[in-house]
Amino acid sequence: MKDIELPRKIIVGDDAIENVCEVVSELGLIGKSLVLADQNTVAIAGDKVSSMLDSDICLLTGPMNEGISDATDAIKEKNISYVVGVGGGTVIDTTKVCAYHTKIPFISIPTAASHDGITSSQASLKGEKPTSMKVHSALGIIADTKIIGSAPHRLTAAGCADAISNYSAVLDWKLAHEEKGEYYGDYSATLSMMSAQIIMYNAEKIKDHVAILVEALISSGVAMGIAGSSRPCSGAEHQFSHALDMICPKPVLHGEQCGVGTILMTCLHGKDWEKVREALKTVKAPVNSKELNISEEYIIKALTMAHDIRDRYTILRDGLSDKEAVKLARETEVID
Ligand SMILES: [Zn+2]
Repeated sequence: MKDIELPRKIIVGDDAIENVCEVVSELGLIGKSLVLADQNTVAIAGDKVSSMLDSDICLLTGPMNEGISDATDAIKEKNISYVVGVGGGTVIDTTKVCAYHTKIPFISIPTAASHDGITSSQASLKGEKPTSMKVHSALGIIADTKIIGSAPHRLTAAGCADAISNYSAVLDWKLAHEEKGEYYGDYSATLSMMSAQIIMYNAEKIKDHVAILVEALISSGVAMGIAGSSRPCSGAEHQFSHALDMICPKPVLHGEQCGVGTILMTCLHGKDWEKVREALKTVKAPVNSKELNISEEYIIKALTMAHDIRDRYTILRDGLSDKEAVKLARETEVID
């Protein structure tokens, strides 16, 4: 049996945020709402949204698990009927988890497009060991391209890299289907691949047309919704990034790490990794260890442990040896 969950209302465009009350009313949401934002995003849009909806704000200042418990308590105490996450990845993920635990709907208002988590029904939990959790899809997504376009370009570049990573994720999914008989959904695989290709073909335009990226990330979220898992958008390149999160003293942005992972895994698949690298360069995402600001030893260690991160069959199969990891990283110029 398939269980497909998708957002019901998505609006994308300049000043989209002005429509928040209409969206709420169209979705039939009534009662008290709570806006979740952090110190930065409260000023960008959180305050505005809360005054438009006449709702309280829960300011997320500490570690993610504290934010989740504070917001969950506030939802219960104040008898909140829906939550609105205004922010980047962590704020949106916190919103998703709180909404899921308290069984109320949520609206996602991303202030940056740094990864596909802004639209997916998966939440990444930061902790000692980063994990991901299946939650509900947002009922509504309001992507204001004026706000997202004003975010630091590094975040946009990371979002492009996360969309491009769908390329190797789909190759992994197909491989798992062919070699292990795993379920493979043509429609969601094609949709996910299309998001990667649209970003690769339009790499030069994204800077001035952030809507292209927003739509690609929304399509990625939809692809995952249809597949019922993160499979279409998360393969060995994501495992590599999760491994870096675990071992690096200073991991960098999710999309940045996944982008470099995509170069590596595309090469392992015997496909055109140089094309992937070119696109990443064009969007100004990092393509090697130096640009990531992660030392070579962590890159190699992450490559050798990535296959063990989760039970997901990929091109890494039983894992790479140290020697194989070094060879791959050198061949793709990820290390010197
Ligand atoms: Zn991702």
